[in-house]
Amino acid sequence: MHDLGRRRFLARGVSLAGLLAGPRRLAAQTAPTSAGPADPRLIEDLVAANRILVDQGVLDGYGHVSARHDRDPTRYLMSRSIAPELVTAADIMEYDLDSDPVDARGRGSYLERFIHGELYKARPDVKAVVHSHSPSVIPFGVTGVPLRPLYHMSAFLGAGVPVFDIRTASGEMTDMLVRNPALGRALAQTLGARAVALMRGHGNVVVGASLPQVVFRGVYTEVNARLQAQAMALSATVTYLDPEEARKAEDSIAPTLPRPWELWKRKALAK
Ligand code: MN
Repeated sequence: MHDLGRRRFLARGVSLAGLLAGPRRLAAQTAPTSAGPADPRLIEDLVAANRILVDQGVLDGYGHVSARHDRDPTRYLMSRSIAPELVTAADIMEYDLDSDPVDARGRGSYLERFIHGELYKARPDVKAVVHSHSPSVIPFGVTGVPLRPLYHMSAFLGAGVPVFDIRTASGEMTDMLVRNPALGRALAQTLGARAVALMRGHGNVVVGASLPQVVFRGVYTEVNARLQAQAMALSATVTYLDPEEARKAEDSIAPTLPRPWELWKRKALAK
């Protein structure tokens, strides 16, 4: 009898705990509050970034680009789940850094949005993120051959390009997708303070201090990978940028970013 009463008490205790946890669970399910309307120029640049990255062969029917909200660093902006080339201003959604949508209104979210939220959490300096399946980088994620800056346009690779292996990070076989916050955090840890990380058997992630910079980096990461494979096919000896050359070249190119950006944006939005 005594044991039964004790079990009943414990059972009641569990359900009481459940009741107490109820309001917290409800609060967690409530959508995060909005930071308010983003700068329309930022929205326009984000739409342009989607289309430019398709034009330049970085994104295709897959992949995504986001920007940190200009009014609140704990919010970011990204399209609903559609092909990047089709993105318009009406498709841009607001997320908190747990990658919960502020106002989904039935719109679908990208499965791998946690890449963006966790990178914004880990890197306060980052204002824009691209996740792509950039085709030329794929061989460098699966061979152990490091991606290295071959010419001045990709000097931002000079700090090194780590490879994220989702199998190591999760400890088990996955479907290869960064589909939860823990995998997003592991990816952010692999990236560290760098500009680009490859994702084994998948693609890459590129970060920047602005949309023009992250687009530039996404484009020239793809071009560098293509050129490096060509150079390695030509010769066993390839001369890469010295780290000091890379730092100097990156500083010189930084102020010129508006030049390709204005061209790419005009072409992308004219379609
Ligand atoms: Mn992906």
